[in-house]
Amino acid sequence: MLEAIAIHHGYENEPVFEGVSMSVMPGEVVAIIGPSGVGKSTLLRLLALFDEPNRGSIEYDSDAIWQVSEQQRLEYRRQIGMVFQEASLFDASVRRNAEYGLRVRQSWADRLRHELSSLVGHTNGTGDAIDALETVGLGEKADQDATSLSGGEAQRVAFARALAYDPEILLLDEPTSDLDPRNTAVIEEAVFEAKNRDIGVVIATHDMHQAERVADRVAVLLENDIIEIGPTEQIFENPT
Ligand code: ADP
Ligand code: ADP
Repeated sequence: MLEAIAIHHGYENEPVFEGVSMSVMPGEVVAIIGPSGVGKSTLLRLLALFDEPNRGSIEYDSDAIWQVSEQQRLEYRRQIGMVFQEASLFDASVRRNAEYGLRVRQSWADRLRHELSSLVGHTNGTGDAIDALETVGLGEKADQDATSLSGGEAQRVAFARALAYDPEILLLDEPTSDLDPRNTAVIEEAVFEAKNRDIGVVIATHDMHQAERVADRVAVLLENDIIEIGPTEQIFENPT
């Protein structure tokens, strides 16, 4: 379980959060909803361990991540995949783009190989990438150049990359805000697939309908705080 506990954070002297807490469990989808500029990206960056909170703690299975060694934190970091609002693909095949996360992970695995030979060896990077591309409906485009894809397809590849990495936690920052309904539906289906694989998903969205469709729990972010967090039905039956 990944948890943010009593987080205070901000930029320069501007506070964004004053005591925010939330969590995500394996196989759970948590949506963070709130208007633009309220701090959704900031919260995801904290959960992704990109930024250290000014106060409060980020915990992974009850380990305070900013208290452990750099090496240990790096290992936690590798359990977390992230998809941004805009896909950033490089000029290579779709397959290579989807494999990118795996390559990073494998170079880490290589370093551990001597000590933990049982952990590696079974990983078929290309197989996992193709599997992930199939999940987003792009298996047949694996050998095409990524630059030839539409915006919606590129975002689906970015999602496949995060999924191929086989993370325990997947963080999605407005992953469909630039997409049409069809591509959005593919991404939402892939969120369900991630959930079925017991991945914990946090999705930031300004689309309440999307939150209602995909989330088990919803956190409503407003004015420096999560004003409400609870099961999706509860949040939407009693809007405040
Ligand atoms: P959201 O994702 O909900 O749109 P953000 O997390 O991007 O919100 O932003 C929250 C607040 O923090 C906004 O007021 C924004 O202007 C500010 N902010 C975000 N990133 C930075 C930064 N790198 N430097 C200074 N202020 C920032
Ligand atoms: P855009 O991303 O610009 O909205 P389109 O939605 O028109 O582009 O789709 C571009 C390509 O993606 C087309 O080749 C289409 O066949 C394919 N495509 C769209 N949705 C799916 C899907 N659910 N499964 C597989 N392929 C899809």
